[in-house]
Amino acid sequence: MTITEPLLSLDHVSREFSTRRGRITAVDDVSLAIGRGDILCLVGESGSGKTTVARMAAGLLEPTRGTVRFEGRDLHQTSKGEHKAYRRAVQLVHQDPYASLNPVRTIGDTLRAPVLHHKPVRGRREGTRRAAELLTLVDLTPPQNFLSKYPHQLSGGQRQRVAVARALALNPRLIIADEAVSMVDVSIRVSILNTMLKLRNELGVAFLFITHDLAVVKYFGWEGHVGVMYVGKLVEFGRTPQIIGRPLHPYAKALAAAIPEADPDLTRTKDKLQLRSLDIPNLTALPSGCVFHPRCPYVVPGLCDEVAPRLEDVGEGREVACHVVARERQALTPLSPSPGSTGEGGTEAA
Ligand code: SF4
Repeated sequence: MTITEPLLSLDHVSREFSTRRGRITAVDDVSLAIGRGDILCLVGESGSGKTTVARMAAGLLEPTRGTVRFEGRDLHQTSKGEHKAYRRAVQLVHQDPYASLNPVRTIGDTLRAPVLHHKPVRGRREGTRRAAELLTLVDLTPPQNFLSKYPHQLSGGQRQRVAVARALALNPRLIIADEAVSMVDVSIRVSILNTMLKLRNELGVAFLFITHDLAVVKYFGWEGHVGVMYVGKLVEFGRTPQIIGRPLHPYAKALAAAIPEADPDLTRTKDKLQLRSLDIPNLTALPSGCVFHPRCPYVVPGLCDEVAPRLEDVGEGREVACHVVARERQALTPLSPSPGSTGEGGTEAA
């Protein structure tokens, strides 16, 4: 993918881990870029590698191969000062609002801590004023009702809003939200997503949004891009309306078909892609060729089970890794006249 001036880019990153059952590749040769104020959603089942990508993007894990760059600089070759600036500019919101907040700290203390440590404000009084501002930004109002409370006195949704407020404390340019709404009730999920969209629209914060749920992507990331991951590989990438409206990779098709529609009749009549198997392959024994072939209803024996497809540009900024999509595309591409051909009246291409 090409973005003129990416804020954060991952160039051909891979990440391997040693396990008791052998070495596994959790992320395999993934390239992504996020521009200022952009939304990039990564979607896939558990084990797809999306959280490992998020941890590499957040600087918490070093890639085994490839490079993570922030504003063009290799994250793992930066000076101490540059790394500190990166840690302020990029913030992570975890999945679990119960575990991500210190239970013995009040909300006020939690929000004052980063601003007093990094010193954008001085003194407890200014810290409290900033904490109140942050609570207002995430719609926890009036802030005085929350500053002296402890995490256990808040609902799950309110706790996740505090986690987002803490991520905003240092005016970040990118928030990495790892399944940030998957543990809160559906009733308050939309309201937290709206708050994050407001932050993006009003403050220009970019989001790397990790989720297993394409329905959430449809709501949150409609103006952005989606990368669909499957067992460590990026299998389709494009603008959100393209991927949701007309997915090309069979796995992306299966995910899109599972999005519930508001109209039950529409949900009933929607084309459902029947996968050949529901089992996700074991990372220690990946299938040969295309890793999706044991589940894919379009598998071409002798090709898909032998040769791994490469991620290829299919036009309009879209990329897909699938032999069948590549074949269909080739069949639609008119053959160019051979050198010396006179055009009209020339030999018809077979
Ligand atoms: Fe299915 Fe073959 Fe495409 Fe893999 S390459 S997704 S097995 S059609």
